[in-house]
Amino acid sequence: MKKKNTGTHLSSAGRMSKDHFGAVNTPVYRASTILFPDLDTLANQSQPYYYGRRGTPSSRSLEEAINGLEGSARTVLVPSGLAAIATAILSLVQAGDHILMVDSTYEPTRLFCDQTLARFGVTTEYYPPLADIAPLMKPNTRLVFCESPGSLTFEIQDIAAIAKIAHAKGASVLMDNTWATPIYFQPLAHGVDLSIQAATKYVGGHADLNMGYVSANETHAERLLQTHGNMGLCSSGDDCFLALRGLRTLPVRLAQHQKTAMTLINWLKAQPAVARVLYPALESDPGYKLWKRDFSGATGLFSFVLKPASDKAVAAFVDGLHHFGIGYSWGGFESLIVPTHINRTAAAFAAEGPVLRIHAGLEDVEDLIADLDAGLKRLKETK
Ligand SMILES: *Cc1c(COP(=O)(O)O)cnc(C)c1O
Repeated sequence: MKKKNTGTHLSSAGRMSKDHFGAVNTPVYRASTILFPDLDTLANQSQPYYYGRRGTPSSRSLEEAINGLEGSARTVLVPSGLAAIATAILSLVQAGDHILMVDSTYEPTRLFCDQTLARFGVTTEYYPPLADIAPLMKPNTRLVFCESPGSLTFEIQDIAAIAKIAHAKGASVLMDNTWATPIYFQPLAHGVDLSIQAATKYVGGHADLNMGYVSANETHAERLLQTHGNMGLCSSGDDCFLALRGLRTLPVRLAQHQKTAMTLINWLKAQPAVARVLYPALESDPGYKLWKRDFSGATGLFSFVLKPASDKAVAAFVDGLHHFGIGYSWGGFESLIVPTHINRTAAAFAAEGPVLRIHAGLEDVEDLIADLDAGLKRLKETK
């Protein structure tokens, strides 16, 4: 299911030029207090904006653009991707509930469940990303959380099949779609109820923004808005402006990230030091079939497994790289590399050697390859 004419949508969505003297972009609104002309308007809140935390033209412009992309009824903006995950889960659960969380999930999501949700009497059970969830559903299973692909090990989940089982048992389906973004996968069209995005990554795209959002279908919109409002969440006008600016060029940037990632991967696969690459758009990847069925593209984030190597050899490889920064996050214009430590409770992940994750940035690919090539030589020469 490929979204049609995304570029055209993103060139016009959320623009309010008539309200802003013809300016193409909605300006940054820095507003907490918003004035009412009279008591009647105040009593009925009969104007579009009434308090900064509850929305400004900056946030409204961004929400509208996202709703068009996600096919959602409503979107809420929050200060980080992790806040989007927490808000989405909290909008549905109550004490005594059980939730199913994919075992390959983003590590801080796991900590939120184990440390915070647990205190409120909500039990989290981790399931392997490819598991049949039917036998795991309990009468009190409130939601099934998916992340596809996982951002360390890149397993692709059968979202439509999961949604069918969850919905038949009255549970909701949530998905962290940060890797594909709504450009390459539309969660709601595959049966997801709440689509979650760490806009920090590809939406922002320039390593200068922390933001998240949750987009809801019709049936989940009211609870989401209520929870978001009650928790006092909002995003600054500056951040909304940056996110909307990033969104405009998202399809163009993603196409380049994908192209560079594929070139790097094909090169890495041929290196004797590399055991395998984890990336669902590779025909040899176990997730390829599902990826091909459901996604319209792949992005710049992938992992690769080295053949056994010492910590010292890995450090010699990574520390000497010029074009790859050592850092968390991803989705920006710059290439990154980090060792990945995989923490699972439901299923072990067997790796032949150290696992590294790369975000392929927008540098020229021949420079990136030369950098990795020199790095692998250092790896080989270090015991
Ligand atoms: C980074 C990330 C998040 C969290 O985003 P923050 O803005 O850093 O809180 C959530 N999910 C995935 C898959 C991520 O990579």
